[in-house]
Amino acid sequence: MLALAGCSSESSPSAPAIGSRVAATHVVAPGETLYRIALHYGVSVGHLMSANGISDPAALRVGQVLVIPGQYREASLGAERANNSHISYGPRAERQFLWPVYTGAVSSGFGMRNGSMHEGVDIAAPAGTPIHAADRGVVEFAGQLHGYGNTVIIRHDDEYVTVYAHNLVNLVHEGDHVGAGQVIAQIGTSGHATGANLHFEVRRDNIARDPLTYLPPPSDTNAGGIAAVGGM
Ligand SMILES: [Zn+2]
Repeated sequence: MLALAGCSSESSPSAPAIGSRVAATHVVAPGETLYRIALHYGVSVGHLMSANGISDPAALRVGQVLVIPGQYREASLGAERANNSHISYGPRAERQFLWPVYTGAVSSGFGMRNGSMHEGVDIAAPAGTPIHAADRGVVEFAGQLHGYGNTVIIRHDDEYVTVYAHNLVNLVHEGDHVGAGQVIAQIGTSGHATGANLHFEVRRDNIARDPLTYLPPPSDTNAGGIAAVGGM
């Protein structure tokens, strides 16, 4: 079993666009309520809650990133990147994977966050959004982990595994062989998640690496509609 550190899935106020179309998101400001946000975007409170896996409207937190259901805007990649020094699409790693979510928003990057290590990236998307295997492999773990909630771990080769956490449901079982891009789970809020998002890790020799260096750059992502971002 892998030793996995905790993850609180805090969302940063803004994140880079990783596609030509960006899922509309909203960062909760002090004094805002779900009702007010829903009114502003012309969506129902219920729809807003279900899209973000929120069961208690009073639990809304300042700085939380909400995905606005059914709304998109054009990405402005350069500007988004400039505002996000903590999320970088640096040099490509030798090994490349596919984006595990095709429409979503990178809401938190890899690295130190509030004094603790965030060992993956968070991709915010509505609960129920399909999660795809980042490459072919064998399911090494499918179950619940403390903090991670419903989690799938896929072993791709002797060196690499990828981790998919906070899932609504896992759709594969330990020992299953999965193909690249196969749907393996759905995005949810299980474990220590503050909103619906996928916590995605790439581990080489069991050490977490920055997933963004293992994923195609936004301009030629496999996920044409991927998305995302906070900071509206
Ligand atoms: Zn995370």
